[in-house]
Amino acid sequence: MLSVEKARETILTKIPVLPPERVSLENALGRYLAEDITSTRAIPPCDNSAMDGYALRTEDVPSVGTTLVIDSILPAGVLPSQPMIKGHAVKIMTGAIIPEGSDAVVKREETDEDVGRVKINKVPQKRENIRFKGEDIREGQVVLTEGSLLGPAQIGVLASIRRPMVQVRQRPVVAVLATGDEIIELGEEAFPQAIISSNSYTLIGLIKAAGAIPLYLGIAKDNKADLNAKLASAHKADLILTSGGVSMGDFDLVRTIMHEEGNALEFWTVDMKPGKPLAFGSLCGVPAIGLPGNPVSAMTSFYQFARPAILKMQGSHDILLPRVRARIKEALENKGDRPHYLRGILERIGDDLVVSPTGPQGSGILTSMARGNCFMVLPKRAASLEQGSFVECEIFQGGYFF
Ligand code: AMP
Ligand code: MG
Repeated sequence: MLSVEKARETILTKIPVLPPERVSLENALGRYLAEDITSTRAIPPCDNSAMDGYALRTEDVPSVGTTLVIDSILPAGVLPSQPMIKGHAVKIMTGAIIPEGSDAVVKREETDEDVGRVKINKVPQKRENIRFKGEDIREGQVVLTEGSLLGPAQIGVLASIRRPMVQVRQRPVVAVLATGDEIIELGEEAFPQAIISSNSYTLIGLIKAAGAIPLYLGIAKDNKADLNAKLASAHKADLILTSGGVSMGDFDLVRTIMHEEGNALEFWTVDMKPGKPLAFGSLCGVPAIGLPGNPVSAMTSFYQFARPAILKMQGSHDILLPRVRARIKEALENKGDRPHYLRGILERIGDDLVVSPTGPQGSGILTSMARGNCFMVLPKRAASLEQGSFVECEIFQGGYFF
């Protein structure tokens, strides 16, 4: 059986990076850069004051208590009218341009102002309280590289260098099809054995949280005709996700239709728990991941396989969940012969990162995901992991950009 890593690698080889498109900064949040950004400006653009205080020549203040003549007041946004005169100070505001000849600013709190004069209560150091031209960004510097996620800070940097438009990767369209004769929509009238399609909601949420656009295809009955009919509009998508119908049951037909003409099955089953039944291939020429139907399995497999694929399409270089090592709060074991992705609560206690399972771990217990913030990855046949020993955790709670 394929390992999680090998299965992911196999999927990623079939996933292209999408073409770029131009967007304005207002629409750039959560997008991935499709170009390197070189600044045509220096930031700051001129040497300026980091404090409200007095610009002066350090050589004029050899000792504490030196008094200088105040020769002008310089607000931010006003150009200095003349170079510094020996023995003079310029009363300067934060952000105002440093007058030529001045090599330090002493902050107001370290001075006493009298009529027309100022007493300097410390010996200033050269360059003190000056923000130099280009100290943040030099002209010609690459400030952001292709593949970077544009969050508020990156968008701020783009604004500061006057880039109103940027090339980003297109957002992938991801089709979602739930399957199962017992599965109904939230608003449908329920029969006794009906199961509401929570997977439709979790998957649409996961797709949006990964930066893609969901294309919801509804729920297909467990027959080929309905599956194919519901998949008819999926050819517009960049990726298809189905849930259910990939197990051993007589009516698990998603895998079966991957064998039909025009489709393909690349592999079936992955060495993991939950999430063993997973079919990867293509449907109507579009890469397709047949996720298991159980709600926890569907989400776990999404995080391991679909999310990296969606992020790769957007050109991200950071496609895996963040990993940390944390101490387990209680002894655990995994007698099974597959790695177990337990849902855990990761928290900081004192100096330690500590993790404990969320409670019952059945693959149908969706509240185990809702209560948790990470997967605790227990290696296969891990006989006994003592309390306080380390496990790898993959954090699934993160920021959301829509
Ligand atoms: P299957 O893989 O089709 O045998 O489904 C496995 C289990 O997951 C069954 O108990 C289904 O009822 C459940 N299931 C399948 N699809 C969904 C769905 N869309 N929402 C919630 N549960 C589902
Ligand atoms: Mg089913």
